[in-house]
Order: sequence, then C-alpha cells, then structure tokens
Amino acid sequence: SDDVARLEPGHQREISEGLHARFAEQFGRRADGVWFAPGRANLNGEHVDFHGGHCLPMALAHGTYVAAAPREDGLLRLRTLDPGLDDGIQTVSIAAIDALVRADAGEGSAGEAPPITDVHSIVPGVTSGWTHYVAGTLWALQQLGGELPELAVRQGFGADLLISSTLPIGGGLSSSAALECSAMLAFVALATPLGEQNPGPALGAALDDALRARLAAACMRAEVEVVGAGTGGLDQTVSLRGRADHLVSLDCRNFSVEHRPTSRLLGEHTFLAIDTQQAHWLGDGQFDDRRADSEAAMRLLGADQLRDVLPESPHPGDVDAGLARFDTLTGGAEAIEGRRTSACRRRLRHALTEMLRSEQLDRILGDEKLEPSAGAQQVGHILDAGHASMRDDAQVSFPAADAIVESARAAGALGARLIGGGFGGSVLVLVPRSREDDVVQAVHRMCVEQGFTAPRFLHVAPSAAARPVG
Ligand code: ADP
Ligand code: MG
Repeated sequence: SDDVARLEPGHQREISEGLHARFAEQFGRRADGVWFAPGRANLNGEHVDFHGGHCLPMALAHGTYVAAAPREDGLLRLRTLDPGLDDGIQTVSIAAIDALVRADAGEGSAGEAPPITDVHSIVPGVTSGWTHYVAGTLWALQQLGGELPELAVRQGFGADLLISSTLPIGGGLSSSAALECSAMLAFVALATPLGEQNPGPALGAALDDALRARLAAACMRAEVEVVGAGTGGLDQTVSLRGRADHLVSLDCRNFSVEHRPTSRLLGEHTFLAIDTQQAHWLGDGQFDDRRADSEAAMRLLGADQLRDVLPESPHPGDVDAGLARFDTLTGGAEAIEGRRTSACRRRLRHALTEMLRSEQLDRILGDEKLEPSAGAQQVGHILDAGHASMRDDAQVSFPAADAIVESARAAGALGARLIGGGFGGSVLVLVPRSREDDVVQAVHRMCVEQGFTAPRFLHVAPSAAARPVG
C-alpha cells in the first residue's frame, strides 16, 4: 500500500546546498563547509565490541550532515533540524564540558558555575541532551590534539553548527555516531593545523586510516565519557572507516579493519533495514546491565576479554567448552558478583555464539568458490540464529522486533535479526531483490494489524565513510 514509510538517503549535493542556505538564514553568515558521516548496520557482532569480538558492520548511504563555520569565543552554537529534537539554537561552552568531565573524574574543584547542568542528566525526550554528543566530540578532539600536534585545537576555538540527518534518530542505525563523526570532521577541518593545510575536499584524502582510527576512538570517548553511554567503538569505527560495496571486518581486540566485498552476495540480494520506531535508550542502564552480566562471566573465566575464551578460529564445540567451564566454576551458585548466575550464563552464551557467528560469516564472505545464492542462504541462517540469540540470551529484543523478523521471513526473506544495542531499534533483513517489495508490504501490513507502530524501511547499500561533502 502507499502509506508505507520509506527513509531515503537523498541526494548529497542537494542536501548540502540546502543546508548551506539554511545555515546562512540561521546564523547570518556563510558556512565554511558541510561534512557527512554515515550511520551503520551490523550484519553480526552486537554486544561483543567491548569484549574484543569481531563485528561485520557496513556504512549506510543514510547519515548526518553538519554545516559549520568557526567562532573565536570558545562557544558552540548548535541547532539540529531534526523535528523531534529541534529547540532552536543551543549554546554550549567547551570550558564547561571540560570542567564537568574533570570534576566527574575527581580532578579539580567545582569552580565557576558552568552554563550547562550536568553531563549525566541526559534523559530520553529531554532536548538539552543531544548537544553533549557534539560538545563531547570537540572535547575529545582537544584531548587527542594534546598528543598529536597536527590535530591540536586552536585556542578559543568555537563554532556555529547546523545539523541535519537522513537517519532515524534512536533507531539502532547509529545516528549518535553519525553525529559525532560528522561534527568531528567539521572540527578537524576548522580548528586544527591538518584542516588548515588541507582545506575543503582535500581533508578527506589527508585523513589516512590511522588518523581515522584515532578520530573514531575520540568520538567513542565523547559518547562514553561525556554522554555517559556504554558504546564500544564499533559504530564510530564503521562511520569513519567503512567503504562502498564492502562490509567492514572489524577485530575489536585492536580495532584493525579489513574490507570484505559484498558485490557477489548482493548481486541478486539486498539488505533492508526496518526501523521499528520503538524508542530505545542505551543510557538508562539496561545496556550497561547486560554488559555487567557478561563482564562478571568474563572475570569468573579469568579472561581479560571474552574473545580470549575462544581460539583464533572457533568451532561450535569451543562455545560449549566455554559454557561447561563456566558451569564448573559457578558450581551451582545462584549468583556471581551479586548478579544472577543464569543471566550471566545467557549473556556469556550470546557473546560466545555471536563471536562464532562473525567468524563463520567472515569465512562465507571470503569464500570465492561459494556459489552466491548458497552463500546468501548461509548468511540468512546466521542472521536468524543471531536474532534468536538477541532474543533469548542477550534478552534485548521486544515484541515488535520479533514479529517483524517472523513476518519478513514468511514473506521471502532469507534471514532477519535485530541489530544495534536492542530495547528498540531496527531489524536487518537479507532478501532476494525480487522479494523486497513483498517483504516491505507484508511487514507493514502485519504491524498495522497487530497494533505496532508502522515501521520505516531503509534500503541498505554498503557505502563510503565520513567525508567533506561541500
Ligand atoms: P542511535 O545511535 O541508534 O540512533 P542513540 O540513542 O545512540 O541511538 O543516539 C540517539 C541520540 O543521539 C539522540 O537522542 C540525540 O541525543 C543524538 N542525536 C543523533 N542524531 C541527532 C541529530 N541529527 N540531531 C540531534 N541529536 C541527534
Ligand atoms: Mg547510538
């Protein structure tokens, strides 16, 4: 039917020109440029980045655009055009962010009253929260610039920023990382020697992979230390280091990246993301709670990270062996570290099977002898197994996601799973191109009939990393 909601990535040039015009109206001056960073969809590897696991994300064509011009008074003046968050121009002082992060770390005294309230007071639906992602990014770049002279932020730097995204916000496709990474490129371009020496599109070329990796780590610091969300670095890495027509094969032990071509797999098939439109929030403790369960299991097993529990090329038997060792060590106790043993065991099983699935997928994607449709079938099965694990072991799924997964499969998808942190977010589907429309219609109809919020559909094509766009 016609009322199916689709989110299009739009045309980069048009969006960039439109944003320049809005910026001029809003701030009464010209923007120096527009920078873009993509969202991401993760084929596999949820809740394992912080355990040194292996993830297989791709950058989307959808993402966040930031138009910006520098100021010399240390202030950020920010406006987002997202209708749900737009509250006019917000002003944040970087000195205030710095004071708060230091006070939080127990350094220094309360000092002068900062013009923002509290770095951890961000709650869902409260519009003041989103500015912390941007201010945190500049704060993290300042910290990085302390080590790398080419990225040193000049004294007194501030900026006017206008933000516009083609992603669902809070939809599990990483609008948060897209915001951090697009703002990060704007700040690098406008505030550092590297930006000065490489104006305009040249900045994209000047950012080699090693620098992009450092910027991704800084964006992660912004989200962890300033926003207070427990992200593990996956989202920021793929936004800054993804590649068109490739999956990112990311080893989170050292954040090394390889790129796996998707052209064979996606010849006759395509990925679809379905935004469930169920609000999710990782900052309210549920995500951290899952993480704490799995970390208790990790300590019990005497591992520095859960990836170490499995050998380099794991097999299903290695997962069983890890679980058996967990059972022996708990010896039937109801709790470990004050957390329910049964919950910790489920989180452990999710982490170990999820890490196994990534290795299996990596092998399938790298196997040039595998016939593409057979490969797609196998990828579909692994997606299905990943969803079961999100639902039963990580326990981060919810009724709408479960129903969408079932409905997509029944309408011809080869596999489907919840992606992102969970408790809301999006479902990723692998579907033969010939069945894409059937799946869209069936899922939409099911949601209407079952009384779920009508979801939004995004065509997912592995796309290029963050860059200057105009
Ligand atoms: P996800 O990353 O899956 O979209 P998160 O909860 O991690 O969800 O991040 C969503 C939050 O990021 C929003 O609540 C808001 O604070 C911030 N954010 C993301 N994109 C934008 C945007 N375009 N404008 C303003 N804030 C944004
Ligand atoms: Mg996020």
